[in-house]
Amino acid sequence: MSEPFKNPIAAQDPDVWKAFVAEEERQATTLELIASENHVSAAVLAAAGSIFTNKYAEGYPGRRYYGGCENMDTIERLAIDRAKQLFGCEHANVQPHSGSQANQAVLLAAMNPGSRFDEAEQKEKNPGEAVRTPGDMILSLHLDHGGHLSHGKNVNISGKWFRVTHYFVDRETGRINMSEVRRIALDCKPKLIITGASAYPRLWDWAAFAEIAKEVGALLMADIAHIAGLVAAGLHPSPVPYAEFVTTTTHKTLRGPRAGLTMCRESWAKKIDSAVFPGLQGGPLMHIIAAKAVAFGEALRPEFKVYQQLVLDNAKALAESLVSRGLSLVSGGTDNHLMLVDLRKQYPNVSGAMAEDWLGQSGIVVNKNMIPFDERKPMETSGLRLGTPALSTRGMGPDEMRTIAGLIDKVLASGGDKSTLQGVRSEVLAMCRQFPLPAH
Ligand SMILES: *Cc1c(COP(=O)(O)O)cnc(C)c1O
Repeated sequence: MSEPFKNPIAAQDPDVWKAFVAEEERQATTLELIASENHVSAAVLAAAGSIFTNKYAEGYPGRRYYGGCENMDTIERLAIDRAKQLFGCEHANVQPHSGSQANQAVLLAAMNPGSRFDEAEQKEKNPGEAVRTPGDMILSLHLDHGGHLSHGKNVNISGKWFRVTHYFVDRETGRINMSEVRRIALDCKPKLIITGASAYPRLWDWAAFAEIAKEVGALLMADIAHIAGLVAAGLHPSPVPYAEFVTTTTHKTLRGPRAGLTMCRESWAKKIDSAVFPGLQGGPLMHIIAAKAVAFGEALRPEFKVYQQLVLDNAKALAESLVSRGLSLVSGGTDNHLMLVDLRKQYPNVSGAMAEDWLGQSGIVVNKNMIPFDERKPMETSGLRLGTPALSTRGMGPDEMRTIAGLIDKVLASGGDKSTLQGVRSEVLAMCRQFPLPAH
C-alpha cells in the first residue's frame, strides 16, 4: 500500500482509509495460519485494483455484447491460455466470481433439479397426486468431514435443488475409504460425484473415484479450491485426466485474486460457458480476470514450484512438531498444506472456538473447524484448521514452523491466561518483523 498521504482513498474518504490502515497493520503483525488464505504479489494486487473494473464485457473473447472490448479479449485470452497450460485442461472458463460459482456452473450445466413445486401448495391443488419429480443426485464428502457448503449442504442452493448423499472419512484412520465410497455410490446411483474438500489433509485418489464414477454411470467433478497451487506445481496428483469437471478458487494455495475457475473436457465446454454466462452471471469482473492472468503467469514460473514445496515442507514440520508435543491431528498428519488439530484428547475442555480466541489474542490467526465425528456444535467445534500457504509466502521455513507449534501449544496449555497470551504476542510480533509481507 502506498503511504497514506499518497493514496487517493486517504484524502477522499478517511473513514474507509482508517480500515485500510488497520487491516494493513493486522496483516503485517499477525501470523496467518488460515489454510484458505494467502498474500498476493504486488502485481496481482495492482491488476485487481486496476481500470479494468470500469468495463462491461458480457460474453466471451471475440463475441461480446459490448463495444470497446478489445483489451478485455486480450486479458481474458491470456488468462484462459495460462490456465490451460497450468493445469493441462482442455477448456477453462475464467469468469466465475468465486469458487462457489465455479461449482454452480457445473451443477447448472450437468444436473437436473427436477420439478420443484411447493409440496404443501401442490397437495392442496392436486390432492392425492404425486407432484414432484426428484432432482439428480450428488454424492460428496460431508461438510463436517471436510467437504464444502457448495457440495450439497442443505442451506446451499446445491443442497436445496438436488438430492444429496455423502461419503465420510473413516473413524479410525481419518481417511476416505474407497471401498466405502464405492458401496455408497452403488447404492445411491449419483449423477455427479464431487471430490475435493476444504479440510482434508490427505491426497485424493482421483483414479479410484473415476473408476467408481464409470461403474455407476456418474460424472466426476474435482473441486481443487484448496490444493490448486500444489496441483499446478505437480506436487499433488492432478484430477484433470480423470474428471469431466475441475473447479477451483484462485485465491488459496494458487495465490491469485479472490475468484473462481471452472475447467472441463472439450465436450462440456459449450454447456459450461453458457452456464457461467448467461446462466449464473452478468458482466465478468475484468479487473479480477486481469489479476488471474497475472497470478497464472506467476504460477507458471519455476519459483512457484519452489514456493509450493516450501508450503508442503512447512506443513510437515508444523504437523510433526504439534504431534511431538502430544497434540492429535486428524489422520495423524498431512500430505498437503493443511492439518486438522483434534483438541479432544489433550485439551478436552478447550473448544475450537476458545482456542481460536486465545490464539487470536496472541496474534496467531486460525479458524475453529469441525472434526470428523465432532460432538460439539459448528460454532464451537473440537478442532482447529491450520495451513501454511500464507506463512510460506512471507518466507518462513520449517524452523519457524517448529517455533510456532511451540507457541500454539503454550497458548492452549495456558487455558487463556492473559500474561501467557501477551508473552506469545510479543514473540509473534518479533517473527512478523523478521518476515515482512510481500511488497505491495
Ligand atoms: C473455499 C472453497 C470453495 C469456495 O470458494 P468461495 O470463493 O469462497 O466461494 C469451494 N470449494 C472448496 C472445496 C473450498 O475450499
